[in-house]
Amino acid sequence: RYCQQLQHNGQGATTPPLEASLMNGYDPELWRALQREEFELFYQPRIDLRRGSICGAEALIRWRHPERGLQQPSSFIPACEASGLIVPLGYWIIQEVGKTLPAMKEAGLDGRIGVNLSFRQFQDRYLAPTIERLMQEHLMDTRTLEFELTETALCSDEEHVRSTINQLSNQGVEFSLDDFGTGYSSFSLLQKLPITTLKIDKSFVDGIPGNQDDEEIVRAVINLAHNLNKQVIAEGVETRAQLEFLIRHDCDQVQGYFFSRPVPLDQFLNLLSTNRRQ
Ligand code: C2E
Ligand code: CA
Ligand code: CA
Ligand code: CA
Repeated sequence: RYCQQLQHNGQGATTPPLEASLMNGYDPELWRALQREEFELFYQPRIDLRRGSICGAEALIRWRHPERGLQQPSSFIPACEASGLIVPLGYWIIQEVGKTLPAMKEAGLDGRIGVNLSFRQFQDRYLAPTIERLMQEHLMDTRTLEFELTETALCSDEEHVRSTINQLSNQGVEFSLDDFGTGYSSFSLLQKLPITTLKIDKSFVDGIPGNQDDEEIVRAVINLAHNLNKQVIAEGVETRAQLEFLIRHDCDQVQGYFFSRPVPLDQFLNLLSTNRRQ
């Protein structure tokens, strides 16, 4: 059924990237980059503070430009979102994670890989079935995947967004709310959607310890998450003092340069193996 739906979608927007042949008004340079497989995923480990070990990672995209070198997402993701290329690129990302999961498991991965989903990807009507199909094709265990959503992604078209998330959630995929505290309507979203994890935005983590407002906000988000039976991750942890504050206030996980920058797959696999031996 999915295949029929895909074929009948004249836009081509849901066609998996490697089979797609239409440029659809995408930025030609970025489109070529996708065809030539110039994109690459880096992984930033997440650390479980109780176990003191790696409990997953966030996949973060990079563009290895043949002349300009490694490009950060801020230099090309906005253009991908504007032209809609983020839709096929997003499928490429999920496919790529699917291909690499066996190696990560082999290296001792115990936890989920977080994949960012932007508002534009929800405008593809077949987001849920296409993700399900990719997971089946790559024999992905749904318990190894987590999608990171921002409040902007969730605000676009409520009913459609909600049913997409519920559909995937029923398959075992988890969802986290990214950049928590920087957008709007967080509380009603928390009630309505099956979100398992809150990610405290780096802008609040930057101020701890020391800035009283940031300290208060970070403590409040941790308590809110726990009272709602959710996990909480602090992003952008760069110092020992930040880490100690978060441990003291019962944060579940951290991610940040203090432990590791986002690294290429081979380095992430090394981190996993070392982590397992400890
Ligand atoms: P994000 O989802 O909030 O990702 C966290 C960003 O914070 C990443 O930047 C990461 O490298 C950076 N970061 C992590 N720890 C630290 C730290 O301790 N200090 C500092 N200064 N920065 C830290 P990055 O990789 O440049 O990604 C930027 C944004 O681009 C992401 O923000 C996300 O919104 C978007 N993005 C990245 N990869 C993807 C993707 O695969 N798909 C989509 N749709 N968006 C992506
Ligand atoms: Ca994220
Ligand atoms: Ca974030
Ligand atoms: Ca952010």
